[in-house]
Order: sequence, then C-alpha cells, then structure tokens
Amino acid sequence: MTRAEMDARGWDLCDIILVTGDAYVDHPAFGPALIGRFLESLGYRVGVIARPDYTSVAAFQVLGAPRLFWGVSAGNLDSNLARLTVMRKIRRDDPYAPGGISGGRPANASIVYTSRVRQAAKGVPVILGGLEASLRRWAYYDYWTDRVRRSILPDAKADLIAYGMAERSVAEIAARLRDGRDLHGIPGTAEMVSQVDSAAGWVELPSFEEVAPPTEEGRAAYARMALQIHQRAGSPETLVQKHGPRWVVVHPPAAPLTPAALDKLYTLPFTRKPHPAYGNNRIPAYDMIRDSITTHRGCYGGCAFCAIGAHQGKTIISRSVAAILDEIKRCSAMPDFHGTISDLGGPTANMYGTSCGRPEGPCARASCLYPEVCSSLKADQRLARDLLVAARKMPGIRHVFVTSGIRFDLLEATGGAEYFDELVRHHICGRLKIAPEHGVPQVLAAMRKPPPEKYRRFVEHWAALQRRHARHDQLNEYYISGHPGCSLADMIELARMLKRMGIRPEQVQDFYPVPLSLAAAMYYTGKDPLTGESVAVARTDREKNLQRALLLCHLPEYHSKAREALREAGRSDLIGRGPEALVPP
Ligand code: SF4
Repeated sequence: MTRAEMDARGWDLCDIILVTGDAYVDHPAFGPALIGRFLESLGYRVGVIARPDYTSVAAFQVLGAPRLFWGVSAGNLDSNLARLTVMRKIRRDDPYAPGGISGGRPANASIVYTSRVRQAAKGVPVILGGLEASLRRWAYYDYWTDRVRRSILPDAKADLIAYGMAERSVAEIAARLRDGRDLHGIPGTAEMVSQVDSAAGWVELPSFEEVAPPTEEGRAAYARMALQIHQRAGSPETLVQKHGPRWVVVHPPAAPLTPAALDKLYTLPFTRKPHPAYGNNRIPAYDMIRDSITTHRGCYGGCAFCAIGAHQGKTIISRSVAAILDEIKRCSAMPDFHGTISDLGGPTANMYGTSCGRPEGPCARASCLYPEVCSSLKADQRLARDLLVAARKMPGIRHVFVTSGIRFDLLEATGGAEYFDELVRHHICGRLKIAPEHGVPQVLAAMRKPPPEKYRRFVEHWAALQRRHARHDQLNEYYISGHPGCSLADMIELARMLKRMGIRPEQVQDFYPVPLSLAAAMYYTGKDPLTGESVAVARTDREKNLQRALLLCHLPEYHSKAREALREAGRSDLIGRGPEALVPP
C-alpha cells in the first residue's frame, strides 16, 4: 500500500495495482485480498490503493503506474447503497471504512476511480471488477436516477469488466498483457467492440436504445432483456447488446474454480488483519468476520431480489474438510484468537457439499430450489454435519458457530434432520439467521421463495429441537418490505400471520432493486418478466414507509404509520385492543 513497502521488497514498480473503495484487509473474506494474494501467487507484484481521496489524482499516483493494468472495484458493496439508504438518506456508518465512518467513497465509485486512474497514468489498461461493475455489465435499471442506464463499460471508459468471481479471468488478463497479446474473448469478461461476428451464434439482447425509453414499449423491451438474461444464468453463450454504433459483448462465465483450486486459494499467506496503516481504527466488517471461515462459494437459491447467484454463480464449489480444518488451525494460532469460530459458512450455510447430479451437467434453471427442489440435486447434508463435528473437535476450539443463514426448504427436502440436530445442539450462538422474507403465497412466488407452509413446518421442527436440547435460542428472521408483488393488503396479511405465530421481526430490509435481478425488472416494468402478469409496486417513499410500518407494527414508534396504512387499506377493524388488532387505538 505504500512506497516504503515497495522499497522493502525491492520493487521499482507494481505489475498490477488494485483500487478499492473499502479499507484494505488482508483476509480471504475481502475480495481485493483474495485477488491480490492470488495474483501474487502467480508471480506478479501487486499494489493496493484503498479508499483513495477520489478528488485528487495524486492519491492514485502513490505507487506509480502499474506495468500491466489497474484493477478497479467500488468495494464489497454497491457504492450508492454504501452511501445512501433505500429511502435516500445519508448513511452515517460504513462497515468497510476505518472507524466505520462513512463519506470516503464516491457515488458510482467504479466510474469515478476509473476516471482518476486514467488521469494518473495514461494508456494503462483498466479492468473493472467487483459487485458494482459485475451487475452493470448490460444496460440496467438504476434506482438512484430512476432510469435505465447503459452498461457501465462505456460510462466508465474501462477496457474490460471481469465479472463474477474473477480469479481465472484476471489470471488470463494478466498473462495476455504480460505477453503483449490482446484482451478479446476472455471467458468471464465483458468488452465493447465496434462489430460483432454474426456467424458466431451470439445471442442478441434488445439494444440499449430499445430498453432505455420510459415508455410502454421501452419497459416491454426491458422485460424481454431481463428474461433472456435470467434464462441464461451460467449458460455457455455469449450475449451481445447494441449501444449506439457499438456493442457490449459479454462472454460466457469463466469455469468455476475446482475445489482443489479453491482450497489452494485459501492457503495463501493472508495475515488475516487490516493493513497496519489503520492503527487502532477498527473496521467493523473485519471485526465481524475476523474469525470466520468460508466453506464454499456460489448459491443456487435463485431468489428474485438477490444477486449472489448472478455474481458468484449457482454452482457450489466446496472446500475440502481437510483444507477448512487447516484454516481453523491457522486462525486459532492468531495471538488474539479466543477459541470461537464466529461463522463456518458461506452464502447459504447448508449448501456446503451439495451439487448438481444431472449426468449432462447443470441446466439453465435459475434456481435449483424453486418452485420445487430439483430431484437432480445431490444434497446429502451429512457432509455439512461431519464438518461441524470435526471443526468443534479441533484443539483450542471452544465453539464453532454458524451465523450464515440456512435454507429451510433445502433442509426439509433433503432429509437434513441430523445436520439440523447437530446445528441446533452445538452451533447456534443465541440466534439462527433465517430468511422467510414474506408469508403471503403470491408475494413469495414473486420472490421465488418457498411457500409459507414450509416455513411453518420448519418453525415446528426448530421448536421441537430447542425443547429436546433444552436450548433457548431465537430465530433471527429476515423480511423484505416493499418487494414487487407486495401490496398493502399483502403486508397486512403478513403482519397478521406474524402476530398469530408470535413473531416480532427485527430485521426488515427495504426492497432495493439490485441491477440484474429479476425483482429489479419487476420494479421497473411493473410486470413479472416470467409470467407477463402485472405486479403491485410500492414506488413512493410513502408507500414504502407504510409497508415497513406494518411489518414493525409491534414497535410503538411505528403505530401511527401502521394506523395510517390500515385506514388506507380499509382495515380500521385491525386498530384496537382486541386479539386480532395489530395496533392500539
Ligand atoms: S438439473 Fe437440477 S440441480 Fe442441476 S442445475 Fe438444474 S435445477 Fe439445479
């Protein structure tokens, strides 16, 4: 991160400089560390510029110009969402910043940083990566400006986007630049070209000019585009989209890493600490994950509102038990380790060890769990259970907790009773994270989530295990307010259901239309791209606030708004003191 560190290594320049909107933490849970250490293992000299002063070109010149390329990322989060809440209020905290203080990251950081590195060193290729750029490789609906924007590639004027989990594509980019070759056609990348090869069998999406107008035709074209992208999740096809006289070409995803390659990645010499430059300034995201271990990557849940599948891919790559135990050993040797692994998990903890068993390989279905768990899914949860048992028996380990969420429909469909028993008995730190997200069937269908009866059965199972093992843990349930397809009446139904079940949600997420997600297309077009049916959309801040108030109507500060919502929906009968009432008069 500094010239002094370069001098200490005898480097006159870096081969690659990674620019990120987050503080630099040398821990495998942080993307720049993972990519940086990986490139270093291939023999490249890698510098990192973290949270630079984006108003100054000099801040991008501290390490000189890279010999091969700049790797630019907004950070772990969408930079707009890191600055503003969904209600467009300024956030005061930033968990990825030193001291947790917000303000050092620009809006549209991928674009701003790219512009600065271009000024800092002319002629050096710029490769965009990370979640923000990855989800904006095609034209996308932008919540903040309420319009469809073109791909981030021409806006940022970057050479390529390395989308998704980019180890393979970045290794190929580095090798080609080192050898003086061009960057065309690399799997896992998006590029802009002047001409497309019509003989190559590439799939053409509706052009930016077709999807951008805020008209009925424009929205219909946008829905078609969203459907085409959705139906080709992980497909080995190249998708192209015209932008004016040029084309955005998105090459097929890079092949996922093998489990052995993933094992190797996590054995790289991470210090598992923030850079010493931050001194005593705590980085909240680091404090949360410091003693956590990632067991796998990928998610095949295919929830309409989520982008993990679009970013990490739906193929689960699981690390071997031996490699995970080895990392636990290294973690437990850290001087400030207190005997607790805070999380042994991944995007969804109980997807560890599961895979597609279809003989001809994974299909193009966006979800392996919705509408029903696929019969080809090899989801024996004994591997996950055995991992838990082995981990907690390691010397020096007092507790191994699972604080990642689990999928209860997967648990039920795959006979995961032994895994769940083990989890409840030994691995819950007071609360189990679970995401029913809603309770009304048609809203759950819009979300691509399992129906409410599955959740009810899960809660019964949970309660029985709590009694059996004399535990007093709670479920930490996540719900989304304002998801497309959810009307005020649906939210009232959910509030009534929660009251009957004695659930008082604490974790309420205001819906945010993540670019590339199916739900973003529903939000923008007002239609479900899969069915073509109209869906209710809470668009204004007032509509969103009324939905949120209903979900949190057990809290006095939301009573007034919840009463307003009930009156507006013609359900004043639910205001009062009776057993059915949601709020007092
Ligand atoms: S065949 Fe089934 S398990 Fe395999 S990818 Fe398709 S939906 Fe998933």
